[in-house]
Amino acid sequence: MRPLADTGHPLDAVYEIVPDGDRLALVLNSAGGKVPGRARSRNSDYVPALDTLLARLALRSAVIEAAIVDSAKVQHLPRSERSLIDGPVALSLGLDLAALRKVLTTGQGPIGKTDDGNNRKKIRLVLDVPGYGIGDAKRLADDLSSPVFSSDWLLDAVGTMKLHQSGGKPSLHKPLSILWALGRSGDRLIPWPEFRDAVGPLLGEFNENATPQYPFWHLTGSPDLWEAHGVSGPPTAADVDATAGFTAHAAALLENPMIREMVVQRVLSQYFGPGDHRALRDRVGIAGPVATIDVANGLGAMGGDKLVTLPAGTLDQMCAAVRRVEQAELRAIIVGDKKTEKCALCGHEFPLRYLVAAHIKPRSQCTDEERRDLPNVAMAACSFGCDLLFETGHVAVGADGLIMAGAADPSGRFAELVAKLDGTKCTAHRDETEPYFAWHREHRFN
Ligand SMILES: [Zn+2]
Repeated sequence: MRPLADTGHPLDAVYEIVPDGDRLALVLNSAGGKVPGRARSRNSDYVPALDTLLARLALRSAVIEAAIVDSAKVQHLPRSERSLIDGPVALSLGLDLAALRKVLTTGQGPIGKTDDGNNRKKIRLVLDVPGYGIGDAKRLADDLSSPVFSSDWLLDAVGTMKLHQSGGKPSLHKPLSILWALGRSGDRLIPWPEFRDAVGPLLGEFNENATPQYPFWHLTGSPDLWEAHGVSGPPTAADVDATAGFTAHAAALLENPMIREMVVQRVLSQYFGPGDHRALRDRVGIAGPVATIDVANGLGAMGGDKLVTLPAGTLDQMCAAVRRVEQAELRAIIVGDKKTEKCALCGHEFPLRYLVAAHIKPRSQCTDEERRDLPNVAMAACSFGCDLLFETGHVAVGADGLIMAGAADPSGRFAELVAKLDGTKCTAHRDETEPYFAWHREHRFN
């Protein structure tokens, strides 16, 4: 099983949960070594995957009862000679997980008498996880693979804030405060005097009561999104040392410019009329809009006006990030170390860089389980038209596996492309993928 990073893209690392006596154990496969035809070594995300898994275990208050090197070469040694920790470690979010991970990796070198310096060996963590019994290996493996706090979660959190009703209409205190905080730079936690002096006038401009103490405190009603310190209710003039702001995990997600822009768009579209969007962005200093950024699909569509207002390099970073996600997903659906693959729609062979992992059912519409079913929910489609024609619903795949052309009235080269596909066999169509193609036929085909 491969874990998904908190940003939703698959990490290049493999783990499994197996029974170990009367406990469950997490086994993380080794990393390193060249793989023919691939630029990266095997399981190159070993360290970030271990960090991610430890954090998700900590959220579940797991105890690591034993941590041992588990590679074939040292299987003959008693566990005591392969041990990486002295005794059980109770995980919690307060623990220095980075330090623990270093113990688990740097301790590996000397195991097995000869110090080979490899700190990316196969390891086994024997676990006690509250709520998971000996029969729950699969459930624990599934639960650990998914982000607890993902971009989807963050969009949900800002999109479902409970708004106070005042005079029969919802108060915009919370969304205005969130927008202001999104546009602000500086430390994550905001001193109350700064918040008061900035948000108070902003509320007034949007015909709200200028009472910034309410959102400062009441945003903690979404405790995973917002936290306040030094107060136990709305602050008063005396509470000069009070602070509040996004939680650490929300702030970590917001460091990604694509996710931040998605959150801005969600808040604007959910709580404000389209006529206010430009003024609000200008008022709180948020550049954009960057036309449509679909983080859930790992695709960034650039366009609209004012792209130049983004910080230099942001677009390159975003494009590179999107490209990495696409290539990681593509590798997940192509068997072996092939350098070329056939487009599932037109059947022509292309180098991998001209293929994308085209989601048959869009990521944003998938359940967590479907998202992890990459080999079936996605197919390799070429960038020379097939990917786009399928995504926009100009072609679909029938229950018989044959490509169908849509009812649109194309002309020119476009007509040729569609006509060439019409009636040919889609090589990605099989029993396991048909439910996803059926979804596409029903919801996207035009
Ligand atoms: Zn093609």
